[in-house]
Amino acid sequence: MISISTPPNPVNEEVRSYKPGSQERFEIIETIRLLKEQTTEIPMIIGGKEIKTGNLVEIRAPHDHQTVLARYHNGTGEHIRQAIDAALAARSQWSETSWEQRASVFLKAASLLSGPFRYKINAATMLGQSKNIHQAEIDAAAESIDFLNFNVKFMADIYAIQPDNNRYTWNRLEQRPLEGFIYAVSPYNFTSIALNLATAPILMGNVVVWKPAQTQIYSAKVLMEVFKAAGLPDGVLNMVFAPGKEAADVALGNPALAGIHFTGSTEVFQSLWTAVGNNIKNYRTFPRLVGETGGKDYVIAHPSARPIEVATALSRGAFEYQGQKCSAASRAYIPESMWPIVLCHLLDDLRQFKMGSPEDFSNFINAVIDEKAFDKLTGFIKDAKNDPDVEVVAGGNFSKETGYFIEPTVILTRDPNYVTMHTELFGPVLTVYIYPDDKFLETLDLVDNTSPYALTGAIFATDRYAIDQASRRLVNTAGNFYINDKPTGAVVGRQPFGGSRASGTNDKAGSMLNLLRWVSPRTIKECFLPPVDHTYPFLLKQ
Ligand code: NAD
Repeated sequence: MISISTPPNPVNEEVRSYKPGSQERFEIIETIRLLKEQTTEIPMIIGGKEIKTGNLVEIRAPHDHQTVLARYHNGTGEHIRQAIDAALAARSQWSETSWEQRASVFLKAASLLSGPFRYKINAATMLGQSKNIHQAEIDAAAESIDFLNFNVKFMADIYAIQPDNNRYTWNRLEQRPLEGFIYAVSPYNFTSIALNLATAPILMGNVVVWKPAQTQIYSAKVLMEVFKAAGLPDGVLNMVFAPGKEAADVALGNPALAGIHFTGSTEVFQSLWTAVGNNIKNYRTFPRLVGETGGKDYVIAHPSARPIEVATALSRGAFEYQGQKCSAASRAYIPESMWPIVLCHLLDDLRQFKMGSPEDFSNFINAVIDEKAFDKLTGFIKDAKNDPDVEVVAGGNFSKETGYFIEPTVILTRDPNYVTMHTELFGPVLTVYIYPDDKFLETLDLVDNTSPYALTGAIFATDRYAIDQASRRLVNTAGNFYINDKPTGAVVGRQPFGGSRASGTNDKAGSMLNLLRWVSPRTIKECFLPPVDHTYPFLLKQ
């Protein structure tokens, strides 16, 4: 019955094209139609049971805010309490379940997402989070599947790490799940990140209370369906909806809190960390705090760079998914001599970007997530338009008549410390600073010192010495550093993702490093010939 088994070797999920006439295009259109036919009610899931409070909140499509996609049953702190109880009740059986059984649930979930649930998770992400089909496919389908498959391999690799032995002893390292429950809090912008936040600790034998962002609940529901279909036992993963602060107060006030798995804004993570600090004497164990947070990601071009490559990196890196990627390029440093040609290419690209509903596959740009984000972003654009020291050189128009649409906008500034050079806006706004060609080294200093964040960044150059200089000078400015590539699009297993400084704890989602945060090792030394004489040779008389 017992064996030392090896899980399947993971391979990155192939991204489907959805080109006209393809089977996948037909399927996704049909799935969107079916989803829109019903206005689903979404319950919380606690201990495997559907919890309906009757306090219904509408979920509307960001690109068409008259369309109600679903209504979810909002909860309170009391539901967080119930979810913690359900998780702790499930803990002992799940934590003792063999790793192969846990792995099988994950491999099955990956297969379900790759097959029968692929179009549903993509369609829910397109409608609920306003992603075009390509953005939905690389996130909700491909990256989710990769997280599930690769994490299984990383788990097995972690268990295989064992200490040395000498004669008559055997040393072993056991990776125990954490003692208590994990509180997972996810953002709206990536369905796959939500999935990984909620499930990576589970794979390592933990139990989770998961609070998704309100604006991602539509696709979160599908993820719960996938895990149910994959056979995850009740109570191991509990999905609750409640206002963020109220939910956190209950979760972080519980002595059994063993960890927080968070992705979202820096301010919220700081508030969670503060609350844990205030409660630190009440916990049974020091909670693990894992948080990936904001960014002010940069592209710097050296005079030796190729302008067309720089422009393409900016148009894709800054504006795909409306710039609502933590890794999106939002500040650029371009040499004076190169700017006219980069601008020319950039404007060419922007002219070709169509904006509108993701249901129309010709649209590259869709809506920003909600009215709050729209108002915040357009506030910065209005300020820039009214500021004589900066110039809006592209875009700058917006409307919330049918959906929350903001044109990809480029602001040119002569002030390297202009507000949009250091503040995270999280939308389709790129600010460009032009530097004198002979001030490359000084500009590297600016990149380093301008913003508190350190998530992603990119250097474009053909001069190898410039690449080397930038790599060294910018060593602490980004957890994911790109050479001659846009700073977005990290792939599980290839570019483990996360940043430092105000961008988070850099625990690298999609790698063994993240999974190590969800286990507590126990070292076991067994002695086969225990000593029977307490003396040592140095005690002997000569
Ligand atoms: P957010 O911080 O507003 O919300 C994140 C989660 O925290 C949500 O579930 C929300 O309900 C909850 N929350 C909000 N206020 C809270 C409070 N006071 N106490 C406890 N929980 C609270 O972030 P968002 O708008 O959903 O996502 C955008 C942010 O996420 C950006 O800052 C972006 O950079 C960041 N992000 C980072 C990464 C990364 O890997 N570094 C990835 C994706 C998104």
